[in-house]
Amino acid sequence: MTFKYFDRPDKFTSLKEEETICDFCKQEKICFSGESFRGSADFNSICPECLKAGKLLGSDSYSCNGDIKELKRQIKALQPSLSDQEVEQLAQEKTEELERTTPHLVTWQDWFWPCADGDYCQFIGFGSKPLYKQLAKEKMEKDFFMDSIYYDLRDSDLDYLWEDVLPEKEIKDYEASNDYGALFYVFKSLESDKVVTIWDCN
Ligand SMILES: [Zn+2]
Repeated sequence: MTFKYFDRPDKFTSLKEEETICDFCKQEKICFSGESFRGSADFNSICPECLKAGKLLGSDSYSCNGDIKELKRQIKALQPSLSDQEVEQLAQEKTEELERTTPHLVTWQDWFWPCADGDYCQFIGFGSKPLYKQLAKEKMEKDFFMDSIYYDLRDSDLDYLWEDVLPEKEIKDYEASNDYGALFYVFKSLESDKVVTIWDCN
C-alpha cells in the first residue's frame, strides 16, 4: 500500500484491526479510523482506496498540516516566472491534496509536513542508524543524517542526536515505534533522492 505522500501506511500507521463499513464506498474493508482525522466532519471509517481517491477533498477533514510557507518559497525559487497568485494557487492545491488524501501519521508533537523541491515529501519510515546507512549509500551515514534534518530543526544538537538518541536498531513498524520516546520521521522528495528528517519527543 502506498500513497503519494505516505509510503506503506499499513506498516507505519494504525488501521482498524477488523473490517468495518467504509462510510464512503459502503464496502466492508480494513479502514482508517475517522478519529485519526482532524476537523469537524464526522465519519467512522474511510478505506485506503477512498482516501487515495480524494473522497475527503473539499471536506473539513484533514490528517496533517503542510509547511505551506516553505512550499511557496520553494516554488517561487524554482519557478521565478510565476506570479505570486500562481505560486499561491499551486501551493494551495498541493496542500489540499496532502492534507486530505494522506493517512494520519502518529507523532509526539504537532509540526508541519515537510517539503522539498517544490512539493511535499513522502513519509518513508522511522529513522534509525540502519535506515540512514541504507539511504546514504556510499556517503557517510552520519553526515547524511545531519544534512537531512529539516531547516527549522537545525539548531538541534545533531551530534548528540546521532550518538545518543537515534535508535541503533531498525524500527520495523508503527507498533515498534511506540517503544521510543523520541522519534525521527524520515521523508523523501518526490523529485529527487533528497531525504528530510523531522524529529520530536514526548
Ligand atoms: Zn471506501
